[in-house]
Amino acid sequence: MTHLRRFLYIAVLGLLVTNCNSCKREQDTSTPPPAQPSSPSASAIPPAPVPSFDADRAFKDIETQVDFGPRVPNTPAHSKEVEFLQKELLACTPSVVLQPFTAQGYKAGETLNLTNIIASFNPSATWRILILTHYDSRPWADEDPNPANHDKPVPAANDGGSGTAVMLELAREMKEHAPPIGVDLLFDDGEDYGKYTVDELNRYFLGVKNFVASKPANFNPRFAILLDMVGDKNAQFEPEQNSVQSAPNYVSEVWNTATALGLSHFKSVQGQSISDDHMPLIQAGIPSVDIIDGELVGHVAPQPDRKYWHTIDDLPKHLSPETLGEVGKLLLTLIYDRIPRDIPSL
Ligand SMILES: [Zn+2]
Repeated sequence: MTHLRRFLYIAVLGLLVTNCNSCKREQDTSTPPPAQPSSPSASAIPPAPVPSFDADRAFKDIETQVDFGPRVPNTPAHSKEVEFLQKELLACTPSVVLQPFTAQGYKAGETLNLTNIIASFNPSATWRILILTHYDSRPWADEDPNPANHDKPVPAANDGGSGTAVMLELAREMKEHAPPIGVDLLFDDGEDYGKYTVDELNRYFLGVKNFVASKPANFNPRFAILLDMVGDKNAQFEPEQNSVQSAPNYVSEVWNTATALGLSHFKSVQGQSISDDHMPLIQAGIPSVDIIDGELVGHVAPQPDRKYWHTIDDLPKHLSPETLGEVGKLLLTLIYDRIPRDIPSL
């Protein structure tokens, strides 16, 4: 994602009340809460069994990816990543589709060879969600404090590696326990290739742009959940504003579930507005929720060890299985319990 379209919306209570029911509930407890997914009729249905999430295995998958090297398009490490994802996903479902495509690089005559990977579970279900993340690494650490590093690639432990690892683990659980709704996992390529100073957002989100342009007309997920930078030890996930605008009820579903689970990294306070992979989906009419550690973008986080976004220091040492575990538990709870119970209100 890029920080150049990131704006802080601090204390804009009007927007907050309009767009974020969960925020409103926290800020204004004197009025009756609006109808929520946890309304009595929905919660009368007993909770469904939710598989447990193996956060240590997910963390190992981040280390594996970083060991490949930066997964920059047209490099051996990128090819290894595609092989790794294909192998791991095919062990979980026969429904794995590789979507190769090309894009023009910044060097004269340079063609980028890119690949989206889509793994589907419960393919016959008509009520489907799309979960996505990017797996590519940014070719340029252009936010590094040392200008000498600006042309070096980003190791992308968090920015690429973490969402990929969480989704691989979801695939393994869905292999063992068939999900009650349809779930499509999109591992997209070329999210982090762009240079905003050269051509704004034209060469960001390449994979999702291609996915949207080539998707079958009958592929219409109810909504999408995007994972981006979901592994930091001190991660803070707040409702991102483009998501709130596009999908207020689904944002509520996600953050209400996080609150119900007592997840410490999820805060129901107004987040930032970030340009990310969900933008092409929103433009294509798919409501989308971005779960992103927004304070990392632009090095806004106050902690010195949380200023590694788009630097050569985006390494596993900043990440923790505990955070991955919260994100994984949230997604599995949504898939197996909350969404099936809340479908009448979604
Ligand atoms: Zn990035």
